[in-house]
Amino acid sequence: MAAITMKNIVKKYGDGFPAVNDVSIDVQDGEFMILVGPSGCGKSTLLRMIVGLEDITDGDMVIGERKVNDLAPRDRNLAMVFQNYALYPHLSVYENIAFPLRLAGASDSEVDEKVRAASKTLELDEHLERKPGNLSGGQRQRVAMGRAIVRDADAFLFDEPLSNLDAKLRGQMRTEIARLQKRLGITTVYVTHDQTEAMTLGDRVAVLKRGVLQQLASPRELYTNPGNLFVAGFIGSPPMNFLPATVRGTSVELPFGSVKIPQEKAAMVPEGKLLIAGIRPEHFEDASVVDEGKRGHGSTFTTRVDVVEWLGNEAYAYIPFEADDAVKEQLTQLERDLDGEAMRNQLVVSLDGASRIAEGDEAEIWVDARQMHLFDPETGDNLT
Ligand code: ATP
Repeated sequence: MAAITMKNIVKKYGDGFPAVNDVSIDVQDGEFMILVGPSGCGKSTLLRMIVGLEDITDGDMVIGERKVNDLAPRDRNLAMVFQNYALYPHLSVYENIAFPLRLAGASDSEVDEKVRAASKTLELDEHLERKPGNLSGGQRQRVAMGRAIVRDADAFLFDEPLSNLDAKLRGQMRTEIARLQKRLGITTVYVTHDQTEAMTLGDRVAVLKRGVLQQLASPRELYTNPGNLFVAGFIGSPPMNFLPATVRGTSVELPFGSVKIPQEKAAMVPEGKLLIAGIRPEHFEDASVVDEGKRGHGSTFTTRVDVVEWLGNEAYAYIPFEADDAVKEQLTQLERDLDGEAMRNQLVVSLDGASRIAEGDEAEIWVDARQMHLFDPETGDNLT
């Protein structure tokens, strides 16, 4: 196993806009690192530069103690696990796992010892004589990982391994990969465009936009402290609400009314300037069911609810509003950056199952002021 250090990595294809632009990421030994972002953000290019399938235009790639910029892929001792698993259909599970060892000229006894040890770890020991065609998707994934394990690779690299699977299988496989990675403790870099995969699998997540690293942090940190509008809009489902906001003293004026925010938060933002407030749906609540203990940390406003969607144990209420043009412009750009996420002129509010708010009601909605972010509309930076 080894750490992987990317230092100021740049990749240009021809003379164009850099596909990867000055990215530095340190993947620690044994860490599960996710590279995430919308299509074209450069995450696959970055992974391909780690493996050696793509030249590095500028910067250093270091694996363990070795700088590998000019090292051939086979000399980097990394194992890439592909989307289609790349198993040989005519070979048994045993021979599929043994394949890299046979290629390296290992003796039969060494092959046997390593294949049996790996298949035990992966709980494949009962299936060694089967062909890949007779395995479940999860078992095939484990065979592919087995092949990586017997090579004693320094790290596993995954490029969207689950993107071809249906939602149910994807969920199962995600759990499986997480469990195996923890058990094996192998340094892992995993590329995905799916924020749920990123949030559930990663020890840390690197969020990329058009070749530039936006934020590198734990899933919890990305969720609670997004560094800018892009990360805020990318992480979370349903996505964070963005509203025009102006701060006066310790009050934030929103389209629905004004919300008191903590003094220290108000001190971080310019007074009187048009800003963008970001509030997640789950940080609103039907005012009539908010705990007394929480109530004091937020404000209540009255507004008409357009649509209520019941999901059983919770509901989403939709509240239309008009955004200022300056905010609209920034949100339209954000929508483009996020690759087609619908721009909303409506607030999405999550309601507890106990709420009795119905469509068309004038409802009292509570908002948790502690959880409000304020973004600069020009730079997109989170000022709070
Ligand atoms: P996706 O999820 O769609 O695969 P990605 O985030 O993995 O996207 P990359 O495949 O790394 O993005 O591509 C980053 C940018 O580099 C894109 O603009 C892409 O068009 C460009 N690009 C990728 N490969 C090449 C290539 N071989 N030649 C020229 N441009 C390329």
